[in-house]
Amino acid sequence: MRQSKLFVPTLKESPADAEIASHRLLVRAGFLRKVASGIYELLPLGARVVRKIEGIVREEMNAAGAQEVVLPIMQPRELWEESGRWEKYGPEMMRLKDRAERDFGLGPTAEEVITDLVRTNASSWRDLPINLYQIGDKFRDEVRPRFGLLRGREFLMKDGYSFDRDEEGMRRSYQAMYDAYGRVFTRCGCSWRAVEADTGIIGGDVSHEFMAPAEVGEDDIAWCEDCDYAANVTLAAYRRAEPPWGEGRAPEKVHTPEQRTIAEVSSFLGMEPERFIKCLMFLVEDEPVAVLVPGDREAGEIKLERVLGTGEFRLFGEEDWERFPEYLQGFVGPVGLRASRIIADEALRGAGGMACGANERDYHLTGVDEGRDFTVSFFEDVTLARDGDACPRCGGAMRVEAGIEVGQVFQLGLKYSEPMRCLYDDENGESRPMVMGTYGIGITRVMAAVIEQHHDERGMIWPLAIAPAHLHVLPLNYERENRRAAAEKLYESCLERGLEALLDDREESAGVKFADADLIGIPYRAVIGKGYDEDGSVELQVRETGEKTRMSAEALLDLLAERLGR
Ligand code: ATP
Ligand code: MG
Repeated sequence: MRQSKLFVPTLKESPADAEIASHRLLVRAGFLRKVASGIYELLPLGARVVRKIEGIVREEMNAAGAQEVVLPIMQPRELWEESGRWEKYGPEMMRLKDRAERDFGLGPTAEEVITDLVRTNASSWRDLPINLYQIGDKFRDEVRPRFGLLRGREFLMKDGYSFDRDEEGMRRSYQAMYDAYGRVFTRCGCSWRAVEADTGIIGGDVSHEFMAPAEVGEDDIAWCEDCDYAANVTLAAYRRAEPPWGEGRAPEKVHTPEQRTIAEVSSFLGMEPERFIKCLMFLVEDEPVAVLVPGDREAGEIKLERVLGTGEFRLFGEEDWERFPEYLQGFVGPVGLRASRIIADEALRGAGGMACGANERDYHLTGVDEGRDFTVSFFEDVTLARDGDACPRCGGAMRVEAGIEVGQVFQLGLKYSEPMRCLYDDENGESRPMVMGTYGIGITRVMAAVIEQHHDERGMIWPLAIAPAHLHVLPLNYERENRRAAAEKLYESCLERGLEALLDDREESAGVKFADADLIGIPYRAVIGKGYDEDGSVELQVRETGEKTRMSAEALLDLLAERLGR
């Protein structure tokens, strides 16, 4: 590639809507442009990176026994009715009608289409297992498209699906994909952590997310320093400390005028927030339910959903406080409380000498003991783990850090095959539903995640395996005949040896060339300048470390080939 001919419109300024490094740098370096909110174009250098990530994914999928197919983006409503997701997916699914007014959805994922394909074309135990994948655009009308490629409305995903005879087969297919995912991210130069995850709208029982640790990540992951426990914070368990507070003598009513929040009352009474019982009122399928958590902890929505067995609940809003005046906003507490259910976090089992709302305006109680002064319907894990909590498996210290979800794998079981009647005949001629798994990698999201992990203030730093080119050939003062000839020769040798080079054949100043090269972030650079005039050497520069070494062009090519494992 010759830079003078390459369509790589770099920008001096960052786009106003770019909040994070990957978005900013991809646009500035001329890899990416926006067409509409969450919808992007990849320019030549950007497209090269995406194709390389795709290539790695394809190799690893094929090696793990999956077969590539190409499925339609436009999917008929009827299939989505069969799984119940035409309703359930809600406004996140983009929908359209054809000229005959038939409904279609633009695929946010493809469980329905693939299940239909398999049920109509495979029927015997001999046909199984089947493992199919595709790499194609997905559409999701996200509530908040943002962060460039990290959360788009049209984006590139690898989605795969396995069909097995039984649970054991499904677990085998799942493990093969799980292992392949690890290899994909490692080869892309993306550091990652696999964590236990919620199954959400996709469904199923067991799931792992592959998280790329990065400050801008929208997820939080909890992981143990001492063992391999790791989970999304939304459902990470943690070991509760023994309640350290001895029994209170008896509840004592204290006047707390206008002190409603835990922070207000705890500073008013001079008691630590963890000695309070926070009593949260939820409306669950139209019934008030009380959830008790320690004053310094937050209840987790996904944990609550699991405990309540429904997603149909909300924290009391103004209208709920008005509708149920027996609960006094700011002064609700468990002593004498009436609610259809009172659920308490595990941490409150046996807690004594606690403070809580008195169910009376401007009053709280102190010296309250669980068991003696109030009882609950059941104890559950409903609060979020945080940095420093004890690991549920080994008791070691857990860390919590932000991460970007780059992939997710699910054991679906019969979630789609049962309603959609994706059946096969077993060895005894008995009809059984196939047992499924589903697996996704956000290809364009991986590209952004890698930059979040690899950049500096000057630009991007591509890992060799997914870089838009292996070598940036940088002749300084290109108008000088000897340097120009040397650069041309090096560039041609690269082509001959199958190494990808970008030749900066522009008559720009050294400053401009270096600044652009830093921004674009090709991992290796061959500078042809003064050294070349002196002794015919070129200077190899490593983008990541800034390391510089003078060597012959031949030695540089050998070194590069070696780094590429060729
Ligand atoms: P998120 O929680 O970030 O919305 P998800 O869990 O809904 O993602 P999946 O259904 O698991 O996403 O999709 C598989 C993969 O596709 C994700 O792991 C992610 O890498 C990628 N992905 C999902 N949504 C987007 C998006 N809006 N933009 C870019 N990539 C996405
Ligand atoms: Mg996911």
